[in-house]
Amino acid sequence: MGLEGGGIAAQPSISEQISRPDLRAIYSHAMESIATATDLASLDAARVRFLGRKAELTALLRSIPELPVAERPEVGKIGNLVRRELEAAIEARREELEAGELMLGLEKDRVDISLPGWTLPLGHLHLVTQTRREIEDIFIGMGYEVADGPEVETDYYNFEALNTPADHPARSLHDTFFVNDQVLLRTHTSPVQIRTMERQRPPIHIIIPGKAYRRDSDATHTPMFHQVEGLVVGEHVTLADLKGTLETFARAMFGSERQVRLRPHFFPFTEPSVEVDVSCMICEGAGCRLCKKSGWLEILGAGMVDPNVFGFVDYDPEVYSGFAFGMGIERIAMLKHGVNDLRLFFENDLRFLRQF
Ligand SMILES: [Zn+2]
Repeated sequence: MGLEGGGIAAQPSISEQISRPDLRAIYSHAMESIATATDLASLDAARVRFLGRKAELTALLRSIPELPVAERPEVGKIGNLVRRELEAAIEARREELEAGELMLGLEKDRVDISLPGWTLPLGHLHLVTQTRREIEDIFIGMGYEVADGPEVETDYYNFEALNTPADHPARSLHDTFFVNDQVLLRTHTSPVQIRTMERQRPPIHIIIPGKAYRRDSDATHTPMFHQVEGLVVGEHVTLADLKGTLETFARAMFGSERQVRLRPHFFPFTEPSVEVDVSCMICEGAGCRLCKKSGWLEILGAGMVDPNVFGFVDYDPEVYSGFAFGMGIERIAMLKHGVNDLRLFFENDLRFLRQF
């Protein structure tokens, strides 16, 4: 008992049973070879040498019929015992060696989880988008809603309903992309003012960010650009409300020290119309290259909504008044970040874009 499954622990009891010198020699040689095999290949070589078809033990067992009758029982019994014992020893050693090789493999393939990982490049929002969101946030903070409308517009919404009939001289200010006689790419986001006023009654507080298109291209004009338009309509809305609103905006955008001034101007859809300047944030009004020595930077156009425009949307100009303003998002970004060429925004040179 215990011999077949006992492995090396059973060794003494077997040795005691082996009286034949040849079996004893085979057994001790084989056990030594198995114990000293350092890898699976040398263990397999030991198996072939001591248990293979040409092994001494195999030959001895095969020769039993030719042995003297008195020797046959011992050679048969003990020879097979030795064979099973060697097989068990080889299997035990194989498991040891396999476990060792597994550990070696694991050690070799070990991943050092304390090493810093790969940092993938992370993009960010385009400066125009950042600036648009900043503008939106300022006006949303003042209670405005964000409105939207189509970029492909009709002549009616882009010009006519904004008090700019077909023969109006102001139309020559717009180099318009026409799709056909009545359809065009909007030259400003102002058509959304009309669309909003058609849909709802005052009070209205909206801003309209979006793309506009004009046939123009130089350092300060691109065929596509971004605007934010604002419209407020209600009872007793005055020019002072407009100025206060734009002052609040300019200080939120360019710093709390900013002053705002209005200069008379002309737009077909506002009366009176003004251009709005903010005190230069570089020289604080002393005069520098950015503000062309004037101390002031033009940031947007604005005015009180022309009563004629209310006529197109069926608002009573005796009851309601309002103001509108419009600014170029790129221009605001240029002033805020000191960018001197509008085209940089659209050339997609990452060296430029990554600075913001
Ligand atoms: Zn200046």
